[in-house]
Amino acid sequence: VQRNADSHVDVLIVGAGPAGLMMANWMSRCGVKTRIVDKRGTKIFNGQADGLQCRTLEIFDSFSFGHRAWIESNHMLEICLWNPDPKTGVLARGDRIPDTIPNISRFQQVVLHQGRIERFFLDAIRENSIKTGCNGEPGTKEAEIKVEHGVLPTSFQFEESAADDEDAYPLTVQLRHLTEEEATPTQKATLANGQSIVDGLFRSNLSADDTQDVINLSNSIADKAGRTETVKAKYMLGADGAHSWVRQQLGFKLEGESTDYIWGVLDIIPITDFPDISHRMRCAIHSESSGSVMVIPRENKLVRLYIQLTTTNVEDGSGGKKFDRSTITPETIIASAQRIMQPYKIEYRYLDWWTAYQIGQRVGNSFSLHERVFLAGDAVHTHSPKAGQGMNVSMQDAYNLGWKVASVVKGQANCSILKTYQSERRRIAQDLIEFDHRFSRLFSGRPAKDVMDEEGISMDVFKDAFEKGNMFASGIAVDYGASVIVAKSGSAKDQGDGTEVLGDEKLRVVSSDGLATGLEVGKRMPSFKVLNQADARPWHFQELLKSNGTWRVVVFAGDIRDAAQKRRLDRLGEKLGGEDSFLRLCTPSGARYDSVIELLSCHSAPRQETTIFDFPEVFRPWDENDGWDYWKVHVDDQSYHEGHGQAYKNYGINPTRGCSVILRPDQYISWIGEMDDYKSMDSFFRGFMVDQRTKGGAKTAIAEGSKKG
Ligand code: FAD
Repeated sequence: VQRNADSHVDVLIVGAGPAGLMMANWMSRCGVKTRIVDKRGTKIFNGQADGLQCRTLEIFDSFSFGHRAWIESNHMLEICLWNPDPKTGVLARGDRIPDTIPNISRFQQVVLHQGRIERFFLDAIRENSIKTGCNGEPGTKEAEIKVEHGVLPTSFQFEESAADDEDAYPLTVQLRHLTEEEATPTQKATLANGQSIVDGLFRSNLSADDTQDVINLSNSIADKAGRTETVKAKYMLGADGAHSWVRQQLGFKLEGESTDYIWGVLDIIPITDFPDISHRMRCAIHSESSGSVMVIPRENKLVRLYIQLTTTNVEDGSGGKKFDRSTITPETIIASAQRIMQPYKIEYRYLDWWTAYQIGQRVGNSFSLHERVFLAGDAVHTHSPKAGQGMNVSMQDAYNLGWKVASVVKGQANCSILKTYQSERRRIAQDLIEFDHRFSRLFSGRPAKDVMDEEGISMDVFKDAFEKGNMFASGIAVDYGASVIVAKSGSAKDQGDGTEVLGDEKLRVVSSDGLATGLEVGKRMPSFKVLNQADARPWHFQELLKSNGTWRVVVFAGDIRDAAQKRRLDRLGEKLGGEDSFLRLCTPSGARYDSVIELLSCHSAPRQETTIFDFPEVFRPWDENDGWDYWKVHVDDQSYHEGHGQAYKNYGINPTRGCSVILRPDQYISWIGEMDDYKSMDSFFRGFMVDQRTKGGAKTAIAEGSKKG
């Protein structure tokens, strides 16, 4: 079973759920030597998480598999709110609201089960890693990053004295290879209408973790020859879910509380007379006194029901009460739904998957050990799944971390950027817990009978919270605070020299007041259509921002017919194209000119009155084997078939003077400044990028041709 003769890896990922796979996906895009292990024998095939928020779809699109999710998924456009009618007390539709706030993204929320999403990742990881050569020669099968199923860590050591040595492998991990039997979770044998069903209880928080049982079982098997190996790693990610073994090794804790609310989940093809299920609408149903149901129409005619259960507590042996798991079956869950949804009827013939969980909100007290071991996903935040956040936020944790680790491993950036993982993502986790706390209590509480009923939930308050919550839930509202890679005025101490100090970090600060009123430093770059200057093809701006580990300087060049503006552009071009330009200094010798920092531009003059040759050469580089690069210069103009994107107007940029924007490899805005403020751009990059001349070249060759697609 032993796969790797060489036991040294740059990155070891524990857990191949959404967070671990996102990390592996980044590593495969960036050509980093990586192993990813998971204690289960296979990936999951149905059930579990299903909602994909708009920001997640933007991210998938940046990895070139967004279209797969978009095509296969069920699109959710409207939510119907059902409450007891104030006069009759009978359930009635009280309101309809859009599922996704209009115009916040080019995508809207969709649902598709986690197994398919994991499949998209696995395909992308395979294809990318072979192309970039993660674990061997590019183009060979050996280069592939494969999820190693049935493999789990049994011990972990950290050599703290080597933590600051970028060439060291301070992490030592013993890996155990399991048999198929050991790696297969015990399933509750459930028969519904003679059908044998896979349940998700083994991954639910109502079940104890089985990691130690699996290790004990494996220990008890006599023939252990070749079943254990030692791996040395530079970096490690614990993406091993809510019971995280990695978190336990680090001694970190999940802090927060658990509630008494127990919910069941059924994925069924419903047989029902409930009108909005037949209309394939998402519904939030609040009954008078029997609890609530959330209805999510799914792919392939499936419908997911989240159903509040009337809890049956039993003595826990210490004078307290605990929930009796044995009473939860698909039959008891549907019976709860029938009580809540009466007078309407609901039953099923086909059940695809089911589970149950207890609502609790917890967040990790730390996300990282010395910026060498990181935790992501459910390992550092757990909450209720109804707002469709778990999988999305978990993937977005690893999306935030992956490019940072890759650029440090490849010697492009110094390790100071790794501190921003915890400062950026822990705050998001805390916001998430706060959001979930409010949302799940509003959803689990009973509706108020009238304005005097203070204990009940007012349905107006619920609707308002739902609408506001939609902005948070979309992932678009994420706003990273000031740091070495986010140049904005934070709650830090002003040094009076254009910098601020926050903890032990020196932050760069620029005033971007009024230059781009539709853009915010710390938020993701919004997308509007622009045209390619050369061939007039319209592109959504985000389509130009592929997730491949590359920083981007976007020069909104303004009206380049204006002589003064053209002079500003030419002077900027001279500096950017100069021998000591940061574009050159950050790029290892022999690597492609846009492999570390890509220069993009978008001007506002009429396309037909300009050509790419109005731009200095650095904006449209020449390669003696490849000719001109036509894909860098864009224009905000009317397209032939897809209207006018009005990018300057929407971004709030002055169409004559323009401005410049620096984007991180994950599409978040780092810096906004005057169009020709080369000095400030240069000083921003010098804050954390490694000068490749003084370094004597990058440690890992930057993969040629990994940019497009
Ligand atoms: P996980 O998906 O839990 O993946 C962790 C992986 O690590 C697993 O593959 C596991 O086998 C592996 N692992 C664990 N321990 C070890 C170890 N010691 N060694 C090696 N490997 C290990 N989210 C939504 O967005 N919408 C929903 O509808 C939804 N429904 C849910 C229903 C249930 C019952 C549960 C439990 C969760 C639900 N979630 C939902 C949440 C969502 O599934 C999680 O938030 C998401 O899967 C977290 O991703 P992750 O990668 O952090 O962890």
